[in-house]
Amino acid sequence: MDNVKKWIYERKIRDCMKVLEEKQYNPVYAKDKDEARKIVMDMIPEGAKIAVGGSVTLNETGILDEIQSGKYNFIDRYHTSSFEEMLDKYREGYTADYMVSSTNAITMKGQLVNIDCTGNRTSQIVFGPKKVIIVAGANKIVETVEDGIKRAKSVAPMNARRITHKTPCATDDNCRCTDCNVHPRVCNVTSIVEGCTYFPKRITIVLVPEDLGY
Ligand code: SF4
Repeated sequence: MDNVKKWIYERKIRDCMKVLEEKQYNPVYAKDKDEARKIVMDMIPEGAKIAVGGSVTLNETGILDEIQSGKYNFIDRYHTSSFEEMLDKYREGYTADYMVSSTNAITMKGQLVNIDCTGNRTSQIVFGPKKVIIVAGANKIVETVEDGIKRAKSVAPMNARRITHKTPCATDDNCRCTDCNVHPRVCNVTSIVEGCTYFPKRITIVLVPEDLGY
């Protein structure tokens, strides 16, 4: 990444972290994706029960590989033999010790904005797992909730294509949102976390001055 962009990202993160602290999240700065991976894995004890939200960032940082290394009780949503079994894994995620995910957006007012297909990721960030660890590049930082929703919707076609959901936005040449009503629609649930004051520091947010994920 060029130095100017990194400089801007570092300042954005610094300002965002101040707000996240006021809202009683646990914000952590990581200088790059390797440090982010180390921070996350140092937080999770061996044998802990872990759920994950679908995330390009977890792949890019190598965090998903670590989680799948065998050291943890990983709720493996990726190797299931049926739709029902996959839903059972999602349900089990609510009892996890840690839920690790990225977020579609973080606002400069300390809100987490996410849009999901099934709602497992959006809802587990809100409640269920004892601790949540969010890893996000500075490219996810936006000003307002409206910007966050706009951002999430703008990357929905890429996410739909990544997970092979045959939505109009992922299959048509123009990649535009038609506010579809098809079964695999990836924009069924929107969640906005306003803060962490009721469960202080339940949500850790590891911020990285790089572009990570969509
Ligand atoms: S509503 Fe449908 S077409 Fe629009 S972004 Fe979501 S999945 Fe794609």
